Amino acid sequence: MTKVCIIGAGPSGLSALRAFSTARDQGIRIPDITCFEKQNNWGGQWNFTWRTSLDENGEPVHSSMYRHLWSNGPKECLEFSDYSFEEHFGKSIPSFPPRSVLRNYIVGRAEMSNVKELIKFNHSVRLVEEDKEGFMVTVEDIHKKRVIKEYFDYVIVATGHFSVPNVPEFEGIETFTGRVMHAHDFRSADEFIGKDVLVVGASYSAEDIGLQCKKYGAKTVSFSFRTAPMDFIWPNGVDERPLLTSVNKNSVTFRDGSHKNFDAIILCTGYLHSFPFLPEDLRLVTNNRLFSPGLYKGVVWNDNTHLFYIGMQDQWYTFTMFDAEAWYTRDVILEKIKLPVKDERTVDMKKWDERENKLEDAYEMIDYQADYIRALLEGSDYPSFNLELTQKEFKAWKKEKEKSIVGYRDKSYCSPVTNKQSPIHHTKWWEAMDDTIETYLKG
Ligand code: FAD
Ligand code: NAP
Repeated sequence: MTKVCIIGAGPSGLSALRAFSTARDQGIRIPDITCFEKQNNWGGQWNFTWRTSLDENGEPVHSSMYRHLWSNGPKECLEFSDYSFEEHFGKSIPSFPPRSVLRNYIVGRAEMSNVKELIKFNHSVRLVEEDKEGFMVTVEDIHKKRVIKEYFDYVIVATGHFSVPNVPEFEGIETFTGRVMHAHDFRSADEFIGKDVLVVGASYSAEDIGLQCKKYGAKTVSFSFRTAPMDFIWPNGVDERPLLTSVNKNSVTFRDGSHKNFDAIILCTGYLHSFPFLPEDLRLVTNNRLFSPGLYKGVVWNDNTHLFYIGMQDQWYTFTMFDAEAWYTRDVILEKIKLPVKDERTVDMKKWDERENKLEDAYEMIDYQADYIRALLEGSDYPSFNLELTQKEFKAWKKEKEKSIVGYRDKSYCSPVTNKQSPIHHTKWWEAMDDTIETYLKG
């Protein structure tokens, strides 16, 4: 029987499991599947942990999420088309849930899929080697400290790409007298109450961690950008400065010659794609972008079409994109989709690469990724949903952020699955200090 190995049981790996279980439930004969997950639970990034650096087994901590993290995009733009929020929670819920609510939703669908028995938790994949038509996979059972080797015909890499921090060097930073950390190790804003905080970076982590710090009582927050400022209308006590040029004890100097004293520096400088278990010729090498070089349709490794990656792109879309990728991958493995020859695949990849290089703004990026999902879903039996609506909603959300960076989460959007407008949350995000699922679902 054909054997498939899925590496990782985060949202992408769970999408792959869901795709196969859906086929199984339709009476289609599916391959023998094993999913290896190095954590003791499913959910990937969405499993909050207090730990930083290494986990209880001495493995690198995977999740970069923190207490008080709320969805930064409308949940309608990531809603599974085969399992709506309303179906899961029994009612329509507001558009920007906190982490625990989204985790509950992801896990809820996974539980309905009857796939848990296919997952080997506390198993870390150490090596994947080409072998005959398929791969020899070396896995460590972390608890038993036992190394297993198993042959698979197909491998699906779903290990995420927001876990290995990109940590740049700045002149004199070793003399800094306060705390220096990367966003990966940020767990709570509480420790920065009354402090002057420098946040380096100008993307989602910077924006959200800086705002969290201010919301929970930091005295001031300064953002430092390399390429361009975020330019939102910030609350009092928040400013943006160009890149820092040097650090001397607690004083930081910026490119415009200004300087300021800080208590803490948080490096929100992004993440590195890292696949230490893959040899060079199978390894995706990329930065955080929309087109993944070497991947036909963003999922099939062009040099060996028995290897797939899910969820490796920069992400406007998340769960629905992972589903589209998973359904496509499944249909290639089930031979419902016949791949074109390598030259044709290469031409197609070049087209997407070139289109990405010409994108001028966030609005075009949203359309690009929506078109990518559309291309994956052509001919797929993934239940249809209103993708055009999500494009409009992402664009409206961008505009709302420009109007109010502390207020955009107080808006509501319409479900592309049920076509219902979501209710407005009972408490404004800027005033909502309690992010528990119980409080969120009240009212
Ligand atoms: P992950 O969630 O990273 O899961 C990968 C899994 O692979 C993990 O369980 C890991 O333990 C496992 N793994 C890794 N290596 C191995 C190995 N060698 N062997 C076995 N298992 C392995 N998205 C949103 O839609 N909304 C948000 O609000 C949002 N907020 C975010 C906030 C932060 C701080 C970060 C970092 C990301 C956020 N994201 C958000 C994006 C998030 O990455 C995706 O939602 C989603 O978690 C990606 O799923 P994934 O399965 O591809 O990767
Ligand atoms: P990212 O989007 O890749 O952004 C990385 C940032 O680091 C960019 O601003 C980049 O600057 C900057 N940077 C990189 N190297 C630098 C250097 N040497 N010096 C100065 N700046 C440098 O990564 P991210 O912001 O960590 O986001 C990762 C993912 O987490 C996203 O999917 C996001 O949606 C998610 N997230 C979500 C939430 C939430 O609220 N739910 C919160 C945090 C993160 P340039 O612009 O110059 O390249």
